[in-house]
Amino acid sequence: MSAECRSLLPMTGQRILIVEDDQRIGSSLLRALDGSGYDAVWEQTGRAGLASVASVRPDLVLLDLGLPDVDGLTVCRQIHETDPTVDVVMLTARDEELDIVVGLDAGAVDYVTKPFKLAELLARIRAQLRRREARLDSRSSVGDLVLDLGARRVWLDEEELEMRPKEFDLLSRLVEDAGLAVSREALMSDVWDEHWFGSTKTLDFHIAALRRKIDRPGHDSRITTLRGVGYRFEVP
Ligand code: CA
Repeated sequence: MSAECRSLLPMTGQRILIVEDDQRIGSSLLRALDGSGYDAVWEQTGRAGLASVASVRPDLVLLDLGLPDVDGLTVCRQIHETDPTVDVVMLTARDEELDIVVGLDAGAVDYVTKPFKLAELLARIRAQLRRREARLDSRSSVGDLVLDLGARRVWLDEEELEMRPKEFDLLSRLVEDAGLAVSREALMSDVWDEHWFGSTKTLDFHIAALRRKIDRPGHDSRITTLRGVGYRFEVP
């Protein structure tokens, strides 16, 4: 099977939660997703949907905006409080179109307007799940430090660290070549700008800030200064 062909098939065990009170839409989605090889669950109220997010741990949620108990936007926000990594695709009726922007603000990654073509919805689901896989693949770790390059997040000992944009860029550049010397010139051009003529004090300033965030007091720095050369991120 070619790679192209493989990428069109769902990965085994991918779970999709449908939250939809319309019987006809809900049952046809369940049938279509089951038939496409997904592990699909259908809930008909916002509250039941939220309970399922916690128990089923879906990879993706198809969420109706107009639910009988809790409105879809609130459900969407609460889903992300339960699991910030899950992707939510909103299903909206045409007359709810104005809510699309608000839906994206609430954390939905995509929206589909009813009535929709099943083939189009399935294609969008595949695309979202592929992006999710890529995002989860974008994690790299050095010892107890974990970086998610796609999401631009950093954890130390499973505790998330706050990073300024340039601090994150600098850290990911150093981690990319963990164990190797990275020259000041390479850091300046990759993290700042290839035509950067300013003071390299900026670099030292950011290294110091990074060290304060990722080093343990009383231990050697994870970032070693190589005089006249640059820096090296140490592999434990
Ligand atoms: Ca509805």
